[in-house]
Amino acid sequence: MKIKHRYLMLIGGLAIFAGCQNNKSVPAEKAITAAEIKKYISALANDSMMGRKPFTAGEDKAIKYISEQFKLAGLEPGNNGIYFQDVPMVQITSTPSPVMEITGGKTPLSLHATTDFVTFSRREVDSVTLKNSPLVFAGYGVVAPEYHWNDYAGLDVKGKTVVVLVNDPGFKNGDPTFFKGDTMTYYGRWTYKYEEAARQGAAGVLIIHQKEPASYGWEVVSNSNTGAKLYLQQKDKHMNRCKVEGWITEDMGKKLLAEVGITGDFRALARKKDFKAIPLKQSVTLTINNQLKYSTSHNVIGTLKGSSQPGEYVLYTAHWDHLGVGKPNAKGDSIYNGAVDNADGVAAIISVAKAFNKAKEKPKRSIVFLAVTAEEQGLLGSEYYATHPIYPVNKTVADLNMDALGDYGETKDIAVTGKGQNDLEDYVDENSKSTRA
Ligand SMILES: [Zn+2]
Repeated sequence: MKIKHRYLMLIGGLAIFAGCQNNKSVPAEKAITAAEIKKYISALANDSMMGRKPFTAGEDKAIKYISEQFKLAGLEPGNNGIYFQDVPMVQITSTPSPVMEITGGKTPLSLHATTDFVTFSRREVDSVTLKNSPLVFAGYGVVAPEYHWNDYAGLDVKGKTVVVLVNDPGFKNGDPTFFKGDTMTYYGRWTYKYEEAARQGAAGVLIIHQKEPASYGWEVVSNSNTGAKLYLQQKDKHMNRCKVEGWITEDMGKKLLAEVGITGDFRALARKKDFKAIPLKQSVTLTINNQLKYSTSHNVIGTLKGSSQPGEYVLYTAHWDHLGVGKPNAKGDSIYNGAVDNADGVAAIISVAKAFNKAKEKPKRSIVFLAVTAEEQGLLGSEYYATHPIYPVNKTVADLNMDALGDYGETKDIAVTGKGQNDLEDYVDENSKSTRA
């Protein structure tokens, strides 16, 4: 891969592509060189790092290398004298009983694992069971006061299993101001469905999959919901979650709802202003066995003390992890080196750290360089830092995150993705004007 002077920064929800190649007045241009970035990428993406998977020997090597580079760049250890922050995680492998039994209707239904349903339990226990848990159709499963919407109004779901639709009531509603129309709000995401069902005290939650509102097919649901999953360890061992979380296919959803006479377009029914949850006649029985494995991964952190406002912080972040060793490609290579995703992001923050250290004028605020773990498993290192910050969040003024520098060649363009989420884009605007001349 050819490396030139260019970089991509993800700032919160912003992506900024910047190339300041022709601006000689920017001191970082001299301090940050392509050769150096390439050197760091080569080291981090080397086969000896074995794809930098958390909990492997590849992790040990990668975090050792990054901490050494932080030290060479003149950074102080960022976490009370050490360069590492422990990130305790639990790996849960859920295996449901092969058949989910639905009884109480005219025809009992037997749903088969993977083909008709996927389920798992985030609770850190050996097994969970739903035994004849009554089913309730709770529409979109949304409680959104700002839209005067409550699918759980007057409903007691304790011990019950809610059946909900994917996406939100705004989808295909025709009104762009109602749940942002066809743009999915957080209320539409599966993560929200599980969280809300848990808040309501439901024993289980099953999402009816539909391709159009989900924007992906059943194979995506079944592939991403089987096998081991990593989570941050929680004090309550995730006992605040529903016992069972999962999905059923659209076909099975139709059969289920048809038993109480709900046929045709049940999305249209669920987005009606006067929609009320409908208790179903059936109940569900299912057991899930969990295999638990506890391990600790690490964020790497180094700090450069600010000259006049050391108590305020700017973060530079990049995830160090990648996918490890997996299926070999056509050439028989089984190491997922992750040069772009995200050895180059880490290389960039090391280079930025060095440049700051070399600069004649030191930054006023303290700069924190944080290489986070387990991004590929769901941004877990970032989540851990955000919930266990070493530097106070209310004194942290910005986070410039780098994930995959890309290979765009020289560019003078700047693109902002997710505009309007962040006031850092005002600075982008200012700077792009001043370098345009
Ligand atoms: Zn990445």
